[in-house]
Amino acid sequence: MRTTLRFLCALLCASLLVSCQPAGSKAAGADETWLLAGGTVLTMDAAGTVIEDGAVALRGARIEAVGPSAELRERYPAAREVSAEGRIVLPGLINLHTHAPMTLFRGLADDLPLMQWLEEVIFPAEADLVDEEFVRWGTRLACLEMLRGGVTTFVDMYYFEDAIAEEAERCGIRAVVGETLIDFPAPDNKSWDEAIAYTERFVERWRGHERITPAVAPHAPYTVSAEHLQAAHALAATHDVPLLIHLAEDRSEIDQLLERTGMRSVEYADELGILDSRVVAAHMVWPSDGEIALLAERGVGVAHCPESNMKVAAGVAPVPKMLAAGVAVGLGTDGPASNNDLDLWSEIDTAAKIHKMVDFDPTLVSAREAVRMATIGGARALDLEHEIGSLEPGKLADLIVVDPSGYHQRPLYDPFSALTYSTRASDVVMVVVHGRVLVEGGEVLNEDVDAVLERVEEYRRLIAPRRRG
Ligand SMILES: [Zn+2]
Repeated sequence: MRTTLRFLCALLCASLLVSCQPAGSKAAGADETWLLAGGTVLTMDAAGTVIEDGAVALRGARIEAVGPSAELRERYPAAREVSAEGRIVLPGLINLHTHAPMTLFRGLADDLPLMQWLEEVIFPAEADLVDEEFVRWGTRLACLEMLRGGVTTFVDMYYFEDAIAEEAERCGIRAVVGETLIDFPAPDNKSWDEAIAYTERFVERWRGHERITPAVAPHAPYTVSAEHLQAAHALAATHDVPLLIHLAEDRSEIDQLLERTGMRSVEYADELGILDSRVVAAHMVWPSDGEIALLAERGVGVAHCPESNMKVAAGVAPVPKMLAAGVAVGLGTDGPASNNDLDLWSEIDTAAKIHKMVDFDPTLVSAREAVRMATIGGARALDLEHEIGSLEPGKLADLIVVDPSGYHQRPLYDPFSALTYSTRASDVVMVVVHGRVLVEGGEVLNEDVDAVLERVEEYRRLIAPRRRG
């Protein structure tokens, strides 16, 4: 049905030409400046600037100017204008940790202990089912969900990562992607040597791409040997790319490392010399105070994944302490099999609430701080804050428009309060990545939605007999 509508729209567009072209699309002229004007602009810059009746001027892939609508209209009198009246404009959200193709395992098994869930359901399902096709369709579904919900950058670690990078490139989203390196046979690479050679080819292929950043992604300190962790870090350092890793996720990981090495996870990683600003450590639920200081000193970024941590009962990361220590903390959903969605709004909401509860202090992690984590915080963790994470002249044009007019949003007193505690993914009406409009009127453009959903249904029928719980 949607395809038919889109096709009809395409026909209409062909006859009416300019009028129904998406704003800022290639057809509108890559070098033409256009304005998104009349909204409440949350720049998320260092000063926390909010502009009522504000505008963003975009040209090509970049933001040319940000300011009051009247000022920008005067400065760009010939610019085409897209109205953001009554809406909130902010930087695109950054999903700092996920495993995108696992959308196809969403809801396959819930409410089990982590190790039972992994060993009895997820690992066998991955061994039997995960191939390049699986990864492509899972990523296409993930991109639909993330774009629709205002995620403009995602950070991924899985298998067949080349296919994930290709799908991310095709759908227009920005991604930091790393092939998972692990000390047992993976669905694609059956040995460490194969996996590291794959990773090197992968990094060389994608390095320098305008939207896809390749990364090196050793799974965790309990699944990758010391020697291999150091080899992974050396590869990331040689090619100057990020290193993605699960670190200090679960108490059993800490206990195991203490027994084996006498050190906790962060201390151990530091002893191996692999902690620096290229590292994005997912979860970080169990750092000691000394380790938090070490994370800040080494410039390690942290992907806080509160809902995944809650679902597998891993614990609650000491985010207020990490923020106070100056650690760059962003938000991630983790894979959709342990969450079970890729909705950053619900992570923002949870991140703002859970620390209040565990510390019995309602002043912790304010609404504004939670939105910062999902935008500029994630950018800082990735060392990409000079390019994304805030709306400032010269930065890449990754931004979203939220419609706060739903019943659940009214009345609107404060945009940060609304975004954190009441906004849903379905309230996102426009998404721009690298200057291109990818969602308009709440519809994901440039994707054959029906084809994706049909294929997902085929996978559901194939996988359903494995359902546990
Ligand atoms: Zn993960």
